[in-house]
Amino acid sequence: MPVSNSSTRRVDVKDRPPSDLPSPPSTSSRLWLDFVNTDAAAQATRGDLLRDFDALLSWLTANGALDDERAAGIRRRALLQPAAAAASLVDARRVRAALRVLAERGHGSARICDDAATEINRVLGRSAGTRRIDRHATGEFMRSFAPTGDAFAGLMIPLVDSAADALVTSELARVRRCADARCHRVFVDSTKNGLRRWCDMGTCGNRAKAARHRAKQLARSVRARG
Ligand SMILES: [Zn+2]
Repeated sequence: MPVSNSSTRRVDVKDRPPSDLPSPPSTSSRLWLDFVNTDAAAQATRGDLLRDFDALLSWLTANGALDDERAAGIRRRALLQPAAAAASLVDARRVRAALRVLAERGHGSARICDDAATEINRVLGRSAGTRRIDRHATGEFMRSFAPTGDAFAGLMIPLVDSAADALVTSELARVRRCADARCHRVFVDSTKNGLRRWCDMGTCGNRAKAARHRAKQLARSVRARG
C-alpha cells in the first residue's frame, strides 16, 4: 500500500448520523504505522511479519518503500553478505520498537519525541544517497532513496521519513493505539471529529459493539429478575 496523505483517505462524516459511519480503512495509511503493526504484538497469532531479512524486503516492496529492481539487487547482496543482512534485520526491528513507543506514547511527551528524533537521526545520519520521487504502480507519487554507500543502510529511510513527517507536522496528536486492550495495532485517526477508537471497525470496533450489547442485555435481565 502506498503512503497517502490524510486528505486522500479521510472520510467525510459531516452529514451522516454517527451510527452510519463508513468503516475506516482496515489499517492505518501511514507507512511508519503499518511498519509498527508488523510486530508480534500487533500480529498476535501470525507472529512477527519480519521473520527474516527476505520477509523485510518483501514487506518494504509490497508497501512501496522499495522498488523491485533494488530489492532484487539487495537480495543478491544478502546472499554474499549474510551477516550484514542479518544485522540490518536486527536494526529494522530496533527502529520499529522505537517507532512503536513514539506511536503509543509520543503525543504529549517531549522526552519520548526527543528519543524518537535521536533514533530517526541515527538512521538518517548514516545514509548517504539520492532522494527522489517516483510514480508508484498505483499512480501515486512516492518518495524513494537510492543509497550511494551501503545498500542495506538505506532500507529504513522511507520508514523514518514517514515517522519524521508525523513529528514535524502535528499529526502525532492523531496517532493512537487501538482501544481494545488485546489489540496492539496503532493507527492515525483521520476522522473529522478525531474520536476514532479502534484500528478497524470490522474487527475490534464490532467486538466492542457486541460487548456493549451483551452488557446491556445482562443489565436488563438482572433488573427483570430483581
Ligand atoms: Zn484493534
